[in-house]
Amino acid sequence: MISAAMSLQQENQRLRATVKQLLARIEDNQRIQQHFHQFEFKLLACQYLRNLFDLLLLQSKNHFQLCAVSLVIVDPDYSIRELFEQLDIPDYGPVLQLRHGPEFLASLYPQQPAVSLGEMDVLTAGRIFPGASDVVSTACMPLLRQQQLLGSLHFGAASETRFQPDMATDFLAHLASVVSMCLENCIGREYLSRQGKVDMLTQVNNRRSFETEFERELERAQRNGEALSCMFVDVDHFKQINDEHGHQAGDLVLKALAQEVALQLRKTDFLARYGGEEFVVLAPKSTQSAAEVLAERIRQSVENLQIDLQGRGKVRPSVSVGLATWEPSANRQPLAQIGSGLLEAADEAMYQAKHRGRNRLVSQRYLAGVGAAETA
Ligand code: GH3
Ligand code: MG
Ligand code: MG
Repeated sequence: MISAAMSLQQENQRLRATVKQLLARIEDNQRIQQHFHQFEFKLLACQYLRNLFDLLLLQSKNHFQLCAVSLVIVDPDYSIRELFEQLDIPDYGPVLQLRHGPEFLASLYPQQPAVSLGEMDVLTAGRIFPGASDVVSTACMPLLRQQQLLGSLHFGAASETRFQPDMATDFLAHLASVVSMCLENCIGREYLSRQGKVDMLTQVNNRRSFETEFERELERAQRNGEALSCMFVDVDHFKQINDEHGHQAGDLVLKALAQEVALQLRKTDFLARYGGEEFVVLAPKSTQSAAEVLAERIRQSVENLQIDLQGRGKVRPSVSVGLATWEPSANRQPLAQIGSGLLEAADEAMYQAKHRGRNRLVSQRYLAGVGAAETA
């Protein structure tokens, strides 16, 4: 009797201990799940690639207690590289890699792409976490959208027990699917937003984004009491180029010319295609003499340009540049008035440049309230 009661009691204790262990494991899992959820909510809130990369590559280390994180994105047609350049995505170093070919990810996931945990051979570890020698165990997560491999996310930990092959991968697989969705959404959103701001032919800003930028720069110039220079750059006898070499050749000239002008600018200058064969450059914080140096550099660089028309001969274009500079004065005027006055003055200067024989710069200081004056 007594021994039966004892064994019942022992059984009871054993069961209680098991239940306690199970409860502790459930609680642990809930905590981990919450931790993942918190991070996933932050991912879903990212509107721009920059925020997404900051979160994925920098903040994640702290959040998940990792010693290394890296991301590989597949970029077969170099379009993502181009987007990064246009968006001025900061350099995250080797932790963010764009891969043109599929070989790298194929070697990482030789079978079906699936989350893989554990140790990694030194060579692969070196490629995934260049320079991070303290990584002992890793989690590799393929980023998939509709069965297509978009890239791969990698977590590295300094402890052997952190990622082991026999561990469950549900949370990491879920995280990877959220990352894939966010990456695809952010890339799509950034593309669309750029399309609205960029001129399709020349890939410089379009007129609409010039209007926005012009307003912003005028406001800033007035607030900070700084000069603002604006110049129109119009291709000389462009109609003749079209007539002689064809419209497609004309397009090539516009593209090459826009690239050449962009090369002459500082990071803070702003280039847009204003329309047809006319470009506009905004040079903030540029006095008339500083802007004249820039305008002359643009004119000369185009003069020295020889554009190969891919089998349709060669063209040496030239441009006429009309420059106007607004400098702050005690005479305050509404911004809209300064804006239209400054554009008119630059346009007027450009026509004078044409009138005086083309391939030249005409510059004027725009005096608010007085109109264009002091032509040089
Ligand atoms: P000027 O030296 O006085 O500026 O003479 P121009 O021939 O450059 O100026 P005009 O305004 O007479 O002609 C501009 C030409 O630019 C006419 C138009 O067909 C052409 N054009 C406008 N947009 C494009 C374009 O996107 N591609 C090509 N190929 N031609 C264009
Ligand atoms: Mg022209
Ligand atoms: Mg024109």
